[in-house]
Amino acid sequence: MMPTQLATLLSLILVTLPTFAQRGRCGTPEPKAGRFTSVPADCGYFTNAPQPEYEPSFFYDVPVVFHVIENTSGDGFLSPATIQDQIDILNEDFQAIAGSPGAPGTDGKIRFHLATTDPGGSPTTGITYSTNNNWFQDSGNYWNSLAWDTNRYLNVYTNAVPCCYGYVSGFPSQGIAGQANDRVVLWWEAVGRDPTPGWPLNMGRTATHEVGHYLGLYHTFCGGCGSAANCYSTGDLICDTNGESTATLGCPMFKSSCGNSDPIHNYMDYTDDPCLWEFTPEQVNRMRCTLPNWRPDLFVTVAAQEVVRLGTPPNPNALRPGVSSPPLAGELWDPVVDHTTFEPGAIADYLLLSFGPTELALGPTGTLLCLPPFPLLSSNLSPGTPFALAVPNDAGLLGISFCVQAASLIPGVQIRLTNALDCIVGN
Ligand SMILES: [Zn+2]
Repeated sequence: MMPTQLATLLSLILVTLPTFAQRGRCGTPEPKAGRFTSVPADCGYFTNAPQPEYEPSFFYDVPVVFHVIENTSGDGFLSPATIQDQIDILNEDFQAIAGSPGAPGTDGKIRFHLATTDPGGSPTTGITYSTNNNWFQDSGNYWNSLAWDTNRYLNVYTNAVPCCYGYVSGFPSQGIAGQANDRVVLWWEAVGRDPTPGWPLNMGRTATHEVGHYLGLYHTFCGGCGSAANCYSTGDLICDTNGESTATLGCPMFKSSCGNSDPIHNYMDYTDDPCLWEFTPEQVNRMRCTLPNWRPDLFVTVAAQEVVRLGTPPNPNALRPGVSSPPLAGELWDPVVDHTTFEPGAIADYLLLSFGPTELALGPTGTLLCLPPFPLLSSNLSPGTPFALAVPNDAGLLGISFCVQAASLIPGVQIRLTNALDCIVGN
């Protein structure tokens, strides 16, 4: 980091805000020399080189764990509904979902869900709660006690982080994935969709901004104007974000520096939440480069045209060919799944997605692949192999909603899914 950049950063952290004078927008350190690896250069620490392979042609799906830290006065509590709101906002913003506040942006086909299995493989809500006054002030290396495998989960912590609305501890191209302190930290009052007293502009975009850092993006004003002729190696390393000399605060109608209009609506600026609504295509390209190169164990991939069900409510686009009525308790069910779209030689297997913990046993020719989010591809079934699912004969069963799909694993680790069969077992 150049001295002038450092001065800019410090001035931004210390900037006076109207309501919370001590709190800056973001505490993420600007890029600087340190522990990093020089390759790959496509989404490197000092360079960026958008490649066609990183265009959003399929989904990356990322499991998230929220660690909610409260103090002994009860400050810091966030309900599961509020946290789900925040997950929904991330999805809206990273996928530019139509009808949402993030719709004007770029569909990056990056999606997030609360983890459904913990590091030990047990079912989980994807939320942990802790009470610790020191941790609540963002002190005490709480991650050493709380972190879930940072290779495999996006670890988000919420507390009263005094510096700012949020920050990440480092950039993925510094090799931080897998370290216990790899994290996104959010001010608890900036989480979720509902306005927080004292900050009526809260729309959950602090998380969008910080997860942008987590996936390798820098501030749009990083390095000031940078060089338009060398925009992949100066400034924010992105060419389709205009150069910007300083961060944008508030919600101006227009702002200009560096001889062009500033990217004030970009999530990686400091503008108020209602004025933020886009990542650019090259920012998306860099984030999608970061995932396989710097965070290769974090995600699963899913073909964009297919449907996969995670959480509730279930995806409504259910296909039920060959199933005239749901199977009943005690019955053997033989779902018919269309394998015709599989590539020759691809590994095929069945995928069972459950919306709750189940003890469903599979028949001799089927293999339980997973509860979401896909921890295992375990066996090799030839396309068209009959498949039987034994439904528990339990009179007390009140009903389990689940669906079955077949999955093929293509070399290069893209998972493709066939049609889905929906089913409700029980009463
Ligand atoms: Zn930031």
